[in-house]
Amino acid sequence: MHVMVISTGGTIACTAGSDGALVPTLTAAELVAQSATVHEVRGVDANRIDSSSATLADLDRLREAVRTSLLDASVAGVVVTHGTDSLAETALGLDLVHRDPRPVILTGAMRPADDAAPDGPANLRGAIEAAAHPQRAGVHIHFDGATLPARGVMKVATTAHDAFALASPRPLPRPMPVPAAPLAGTGMGRG
Ligand code: ASP
Repeated sequence: MHVMVISTGGTIACTAGSDGALVPTLTAAELVAQSATVHEVRGVDANRIDSSSATLADLDRLREAVRTSLLDASVAGVVVTHGTDSLAETALGLDLVHRDPRPVILTGAMRPADDAAPDGPANLRGAIEAAAHPQRAGVHIHFDGATLPARGVMKVATTAHDAFALASPRPLPRPMPVPAAPLAGTGMGRG
Protein backbone atom coordinates (compact mmCIF):
# COMPACT_ATOMS: atom_id res chain seq x y z
CA MET A 1 0.00 0.00 0.00
CA HIS A 2 1.18 3.53 -0.67
CA VAL A 3 -0.01 7.11 -0.30
CA MET A 4 -0.60 9.17 -3.45
CA VAL A 5 0.53 12.82 -3.21
CA ILE A 6 -1.08 15.18 -5.74
CA SER A 7 0.65 18.56 -5.99
CA THR A 8 -1.19 21.70 -7.14
CA GLY A 9 1.22 24.54 -6.25
CA GLY A 10 0.88 27.12 -3.47
CA THR A 11 3.49 28.42 -1.05
CA ILE A 12 4.48 24.88 -0.04
CA ALA A 13 5.92 24.44 -3.56
CA CYS A 14 7.31 27.97 -3.93
CA THR A 15 10.85 29.20 -4.29
CA ALA A 16 11.99 32.77 -4.93
CA GLY A 17 13.00 33.70 -8.46
CA SER A 18 15.86 36.09 -9.28
CA ASP A 19 13.42 39.03 -8.90
CA GLY A 20 12.39 37.78 -5.44
CA ALA A 21 8.89 36.74 -6.55
CA LEU A 22 7.64 33.44 -5.13
CA VAL A 23 6.78 30.90 -7.81
CA PRO A 24 5.53 27.31 -7.35
CA THR A 25 8.46 25.33 -8.75
CA LEU A 26 8.67 22.11 -6.71
CA THR A 27 7.22 18.89 -8.08
CA ALA A 28 5.33 16.34 -6.01
CA ALA A 29 8.46 14.15 -5.98
CA GLU A 30 10.59 17.03 -4.65
CA LEU A 31 8.01 17.88 -1.98
CA VAL A 32 7.89 14.25 -0.85
CA ALA A 33 11.70 14.09 -0.73
CA GLN A 34 11.79 17.17 1.54
CA SER A 35 9.14 15.70 3.86
CA ALA A 36 11.43 12.85 4.99
CA THR A 37 8.39 10.60 5.34
CA VAL A 38 8.93 6.94 6.22
CA HIS A 39 5.86 5.86 4.21
CA GLU A 40 5.82 4.57 0.67
CA VAL A 41 4.59 7.48 -1.45
CA ARG A 42 4.00 8.16 -5.13
CA GLY A 43 3.54 11.66 -6.51
CA VAL A 44 1.71 13.25 -9.38
CA ASP A 45 1.79 16.89 -10.52
CA ALA A 46 -1.78 18.02 -11.21
CA ASN A 47 -1.31 21.78 -11.25
CA ARG A 48 1.22 24.50 -10.38
CA ILE A 49 -0.74 27.61 -9.42
CA ASP A 50 -1.21 30.18 -6.68
CA SER A 51 -4.47 28.99 -5.16
CA SER A 52 -5.90 32.52 -5.04
CA SER A 53 -6.38 32.13 -8.80
CA ALA A 54 -7.93 28.63 -8.63
CA THR A 55 -11.05 28.19 -10.76
CA LEU A 56 -13.93 25.72 -10.75
CA ALA A 57 -12.24 24.05 -13.73
CA ASP A 58 -9.18 23.51 -11.48
CA LEU A 59 -11.46 21.95 -8.85
CA ASP A 60 -13.08 19.71 -11.47
CA ARG A 61 -9.62 18.50 -12.59
CA LEU A 62 -8.52 17.91 -9.01
CA ARG A 63 -11.69 15.94 -8.22
CA GLU A 64 -10.91 13.77 -11.24
CA ALA A 65 -7.25 13.32 -10.16
CA VAL A 66 -8.40 12.20 -6.69
CA ARG A 67 -11.03 9.87 -8.15
CA THR A 68 -8.50 8.36 -10.57
CA SER A 69 -5.95 7.85 -7.77
CA LEU A 70 -8.52 5.98 -5.70
CA LEU A 71 -9.25 3.56 -8.55
CA ASP A 72 -5.95 1.91 -7.53
CA ALA A 73 -6.68 -0.52 -4.68
CA SER A 74 -3.06 -0.26 -3.51
CA VAL A 75 -3.55 3.42 -2.61
CA ALA A 76 -4.10 3.76 1.16
CA GLY A 77 -5.10 7.41 0.93
CA VAL A 78 -4.51 10.63 -1.00
CA VAL A 79 -2.70 13.82 0.01
CA VAL A 80 -3.21 17.07 -1.91
CA THR A 81 -0.63 19.83 -1.53
CA HIS A 82 -2.35 23.18 -2.09
CA GLY A 83 -2.01 26.91 -1.56
CA THR A 84 -3.60 28.11 1.65
CA ASP A 85 -5.68 30.94 0.15
CA SER A 86 -8.38 28.61 -1.20
CA LEU A 87 -7.38 25.39 0.59
CA ALA A 88 -10.51 25.34 2.77
CA GLU A 89 -12.78 25.88 -0.25
CA THR A 90 -11.07 23.10 -2.23
CA ALA A 91 -11.29 20.75 0.78
CA LEU A 92 -15.07 21.34 0.95
CA GLY A 93 -15.38 21.00 -2.83
CA LEU A 94 -13.69 17.59 -2.64
CA ASP A 95 -15.61 16.46 0.43
CA LEU A 96 -19.00 17.19 -1.17
CA VAL A 97 -18.39 14.38 -3.69
CA HIS A 98 -16.09 12.06 -1.72
CA ARG A 99 -17.72 8.68 -1.13
CA ASP A 100 -14.62 6.46 -0.86
CA PRO A 101 -13.80 5.24 2.69
CA ARG A 102 -10.11 6.10 2.19
CA PRO A 103 -8.93 9.51 3.39
CA VAL A 104 -8.09 12.60 1.38
CA ILE A 105 -5.87 15.04 3.31
CA LEU A 106 -5.02 18.54 2.10
CA THR A 107 -1.99 20.42 3.33
CA GLY A 108 0.11 23.45 2.47
CA ALA A 109 2.53 25.85 4.09
CA MET A 110 2.82 29.41 5.32
CA ARG A 111 6.50 29.65 4.37
CA PRO A 112 8.02 28.81 0.99
CA ALA A 113 10.12 25.73 0.37
CA ASP A 114 13.38 27.72 0.24
CA ASP A 115 12.71 29.52 3.55
CA ALA A 116 15.34 29.01 6.27
CA ALA A 117 12.68 27.30 8.41
CA PRO A 118 9.95 26.01 6.09
CA ASP A 119 6.81 24.52 7.64
CA GLY A 120 5.84 22.60 4.50
CA PRO A 121 7.94 19.44 5.06
CA ALA A 122 6.47 18.76 8.52
CA ASN A 123 2.94 19.56 7.30
CA LEU A 124 3.34 17.14 4.39
CA ARG A 125 4.89 14.45 6.62
CA GLY A 126 1.89 14.72 8.98
CA ALA A 127 -0.60 14.68 6.10
CA ILE A 128 1.00 11.52 4.67
CA GLU A 129 0.84 9.94 8.12
CA ALA A 130 -2.88 10.81 8.39
CA ALA A 131 -3.53 9.37 4.91
CA ALA A 132 -1.59 6.17 5.63
CA HIS A 133 -3.32 5.48 8.95
CA PRO A 134 -6.90 6.55 8.40
CA GLN A 135 -8.88 7.24 11.54
CA ARG A 136 -11.50 9.55 10.09
CA ALA A 137 -14.04 9.51 7.28
CA GLY A 138 -14.06 12.18 4.61
CA VAL A 139 -11.75 14.92 3.47
CA HIS A 140 -9.56 16.65 6.07
CA ILE A 141 -6.81 19.22 6.19
CA HIS A 142 -3.59 18.65 8.12
CA PHE A 143 -1.79 21.79 9.23
CA ASP A 144 0.71 22.54 12.02
CA GLY A 145 0.13 19.17 13.71
CA ALA A 146 -3.68 19.31 13.65
CA THR A 147 -6.02 17.27 11.42
CA LEU A 148 -9.34 19.06 10.89
CA PRO A 149 -12.46 18.07 8.91
CA ALA A 150 -13.17 19.91 5.67
CA ARG A 151 -16.65 20.84 6.93
CA GLY A 152 -16.33 24.08 8.86
CA VAL A 153 -12.60 24.66 8.49
CA MET A 154 -11.38 28.15 7.60
CA LYS A 155 -8.12 30.06 7.22
CA VAL A 156 -7.78 32.32 10.26
CA ALA A 157 -4.24 33.70 9.96
CA THR A 158 -2.02 35.04 7.20
CA THR A 159 1.39 34.41 8.79
CA ALA A 160 1.02 32.10 11.82
CA HIS A 161 1.85 28.42 11.25
CA ASP A 162 -1.48 27.31 12.77
CA ALA A 163 -3.41 29.11 10.07
CA PHE A 164 -6.55 26.94 10.07
CA ALA A 165 -9.29 26.45 12.65
CA LEU A 166 -12.84 25.15 12.87
CA ALA A 167 -15.56 27.79 12.81
CA SER A 168 -17.70 25.70 15.15
CA PRO A 169 -16.56 23.89 18.34
CA ARG A 170 -18.94 21.02 17.47
CA PRO A 171 -18.34 18.81 14.40
CA LEU A 172 -20.66 19.71 11.52
CA PRO A 173 -22.86 16.97 10.00
CA ARG A 174 -21.52 15.31 6.87
CA PRO A 175 -24.48 14.68 4.55
CA MET A 176 -24.34 12.02 1.82
CA PRO A 177 -21.97 12.97 -1.02
CA VAL A 178 -23.50 14.37 -4.20
CA PRO A 179 -22.63 13.18 -7.75
CA ALA A 180 -19.45 14.83 -9.05
CA ALA A 181 -20.98 16.83 -11.92
CA PRO A 182 -18.58 19.37 -13.49
CA LEU A 183 -18.70 22.80 -11.83
CA ALA A 184 -16.94 24.79 -14.56
CA GLY A 185 -19.36 26.69 -16.71
CA THR A 186 -22.23 26.52 -14.22
CA GLY A 187 -21.92 30.22 -13.48
CA MET A 188 -21.33 29.53 -9.77
CA GLY A 189 -17.90 31.14 -9.75
CA ARG A 190 -14.83 31.80 -11.83
CA GLY A 191 -14.74 29.31 -14.74
N1 ASP B 1 -0.96 32.65 -2.27
C1 ASP B 1 -0.59 31.33 -1.79
C2 ASP B 1 -1.58 30.33 -2.36
O1 ASP B 1 -2.66 30.21 -1.86
C3 ASP B 1 -0.58 31.36 -0.30
C4 ASP B 1 -0.19 30.06 0.38
O2 ASP B 1 -0.05 29.00 -0.19
O3 ASP B 1 -0.01 30.15 1.62
O4 ASP B 1 -1.26 29.68 -3.31
